[in-house]
Amino acid sequence: LLLCCLAAGTEAGYPQYKDPNQKLGVRIKDLFSRMTLEEKIGQMVQIERSVATPEVMKKYFIGSVLSGGGSVPAKKASAETWVNTVNEIQKASLSTRLGIPMIYGIDAVHGHNNVYNATIFPHNVGLGVTRQLIKKIGEATALEVRATGIPYAFAPCIAVCRDPRWGRCYESYSEDHKIVQAMTEIIPGLQGDLPANSQKGIPFVAGKTKVAACAKHFVGDGGTTKGINENNTVISSNGLLSIHMPAYLNSISKGVATVMVSYSSWNGEKMHANRDLVTGFLKNKLKFRGFVISDWQGIDRITSPPHANYSYSVEAGVSAGIDMIMVPYNFNEFIDDLTYLVKKNIIPMSRIDDAVKRILRVKFVMGLFENPLADLSLVNQLGSKEHRELAREAVRKSLVLLKNGKSAYQPLLPLPKKATKILVAGSHADNLGYQCGGWTIEWQGLGGNDLTVGTTILKAVKNTVDPTTTQVVYSENPDADFVKSNEFSYAIVVVGEPPYAETFGDSLNLTIPEPGPSTIKNVCGAVKCVVVIVSGRPVVIQPYLAAIDALVAAWLPGTEGQGVADLLFGDYGFTGKLARTWFKTVDQLPMNVGDRHYDPLFPFGFGLSTQPKY
Ligand code: BGC
Repeated sequence: LLLCCLAAGTEAGYPQYKDPNQKLGVRIKDLFSRMTLEEKIGQMVQIERSVATPEVMKKYFIGSVLSGGGSVPAKKASAETWVNTVNEIQKASLSTRLGIPMIYGIDAVHGHNNVYNATIFPHNVGLGVTRQLIKKIGEATALEVRATGIPYAFAPCIAVCRDPRWGRCYESYSEDHKIVQAMTEIIPGLQGDLPANSQKGIPFVAGKTKVAACAKHFVGDGGTTKGINENNTVISSNGLLSIHMPAYLNSISKGVATVMVSYSSWNGEKMHANRDLVTGFLKNKLKFRGFVISDWQGIDRITSPPHANYSYSVEAGVSAGIDMIMVPYNFNEFIDDLTYLVKKNIIPMSRIDDAVKRILRVKFVMGLFENPLADLSLVNQLGSKEHRELAREAVRKSLVLLKNGKSAYQPLLPLPKKATKILVAGSHADNLGYQCGGWTIEWQGLGGNDLTVGTTILKAVKNTVDPTTTQVVYSENPDADFVKSNEFSYAIVVVGEPPYAETFGDSLNLTIPEPGPSTIKNVCGAVKCVVVIVSGRPVVIQPYLAAIDALVAAWLPGTEGQGVADLLFGDYGFTGKLARTWFKTVDQLPMNVGDRHYDPLFPFGFGLSTQPKY
């Protein structure tokens, strides 16, 4: 009897895989030995929340669920609602024969951005400027994500954006891989510090207040020609290894739990089908032991047009080394195809085993078997005062002062808090949605102040000036006569790009859309003005530069607009240095620091400073 139970750990005893005192390897082996092919394939499937009914979870042994961009249980759903939603799905998984918990993932790419009232941090393009704070931001994000019962974030994006025409450039910390590498410190923030004696490549997540991270998109996503999203990155192996790969090495050495594959191709070959890089390099050479996840319908896009030959896509993607497939709707088709391919020995069983063991490893390591259900103990973390303070500090450190006064002897900033009459103008001055950009509540982002809780730049200015002496007048798009007929002491013009995400943000001209340029013209001609650009990347600004007295790049600062006013009025000094090259004209693109014909408007690393006044 003893022998039977020691060997199999079965019926008579407590299964070894359920025993947290067993070694990781023992638990994986034990659970794995009990699984049918159906259960194994189920682990490899990630489906969208809207199709994740209890019946589906149970029938197909689904291993993972996601909220794709903007998929929420209800408009303005509370943390409690989220916890209940996730727990309901989890309970279905736990009720299956082996009770393997599912892992719920979400795009928390600048704070917990799908969730109402969460703290929205600046997008990565701004965080690259701070070159610090990132670990704390990871910690805060992990707490907010866990507050809603979710243990997995599809972040960080460690793309090295080499061309701002790319619609995802704002998801990239910098054009410089060294800054991107440094910013992988968000990983220990999200997951916890890797213990000193850890084995290389083993994923690490420190428990209930941390989340599994996801380094994405492997690899070369930021290097596509003309910045066309999901397109082809033409670069030598050396170039790929020296520019786009280094941050993956950092991520793995910090115990990153998962890696997401890029939609893009490398020299014509789709990354989702690239076995040399996914298996040969990432898994074998770099010894990454967490799981590799596809992008959303990423395997479908192996063929052109997408989904033209799904069985082939399944074969190519799984053979390349993808472990979990973000299907995310047609799970029936995926499961049927993969089962067929395995039964026919077209995909060897060893490949399925590798995938499943990696997925189980992450689930075990992060304590999902011990704590599969979330409680409400963290709900107060969502949008907490501390996190909003941290985001405000990040805003202050992410702004870059590009021009300050018509000459160095006549700086315009900081503005006096006791100026008599200040005009605040522009499409982005009082628009929280614009301030947050894409990936905020909705996939593409939204306009307006209603979408979540935060402080617009207009509100922040009003909070900052001395109310006994100073009148703040707001006009979204004032005409020249209005500006002239008022006696404004100063004007703050906030213009920029409307929100976008992914391909919708690809742009060949990078202009600020109207009425932005007219607002600059109408205001800056008549009154001393500071122009604040709210954008996901450098935009065409040279034609207006002469008319502008002071120019600030604010990127996409998120909910804490107060950080902008903190700098404009001198409560703090400007310190930010560009983490991207600011071009003169788009025909110079791509242009990155270190290029031979480097002739920027503002070079990489540029940024004026001011002294705090108060
Ligand atoms: C994006 C990923 C994201 C995924 C899930 C895809 O379209 O490329 O970055 O994690 O959707 O929402």
